[in-house]
Amino acid sequence: MLNKLEQLRALEVEIRADVSLPLAEANLVFGEGNPETQVLFVGEAPGFHEDQLGRPFVGRAGKLLDQLIAELGWRREMVYITNIVKRRPPENRDPLPTEISAYQPYLVRQIAIINPSLVAPLGRFAMNHFLPFAKISRDQGKIFRSEGRLIYPLYHPAAALRATAVLDELKRAFARLPEILAGRLTPTPPANSSLTTVVPKKESPAQSSLF
Ligand code: URA
Repeated sequence: MLNKLEQLRALEVEIRADVSLPLAEANLVFGEGNPETQVLFVGEAPGFHEDQLGRPFVGRAGKLLDQLIAELGWRREMVYITNIVKRRPPENRDPLPTEISAYQPYLVRQIAIINPSLVAPLGRFAMNHFLPFAKISRDQGKIFRSEGRLIYPLYHPAAALRATAVLDELKRAFARLPEILAGRLTPTPPANSSLTTVVPKKESPAQSSLF
């Protein structure tokens, strides 16, 4: 049985060899981090710098993501970071629905291998993969449950770089990640919806081991 790292490497080889995938002129940015993590960040698509280096979130938005992670006392290497679309769209345009759906089966398999307890989609495109009916301005910072995982949509760091109010929201939501992972904030299913939102629990369980 292959370990997670080996399985991810095999998946990357498979994606690289898949000539049916769109955006073939760009470099593959598969994702990176700790395959044993409980926390997976999923962005939209690589930008210029990511395409150049073959690594996710290494430009300005990536620097902000690194900073937010560091403010929790975590390190980037402790989590896993990837994108829904694994090659850069020309001129950084929004990914097309056809591009998102072409890469989707690989994202699903990547997540299944890592098997995180919490996925934080960054921005509306990534969020809508997990929560098709969610709206980023309404639902960022809420906790949802899907297929046995917590889904915690956050504003995209690039959006936070453009608007201070968004940055404040992103920081606020980010700061709650440790509590959510420790089980102190959990989703509660409302009666009339498959979507679930957060309520604080009263007790304070011991620090969980996250990574
Ligand atoms: N924006 C994204 O969504 N992903 C990256 O990897 C970089 C910027």
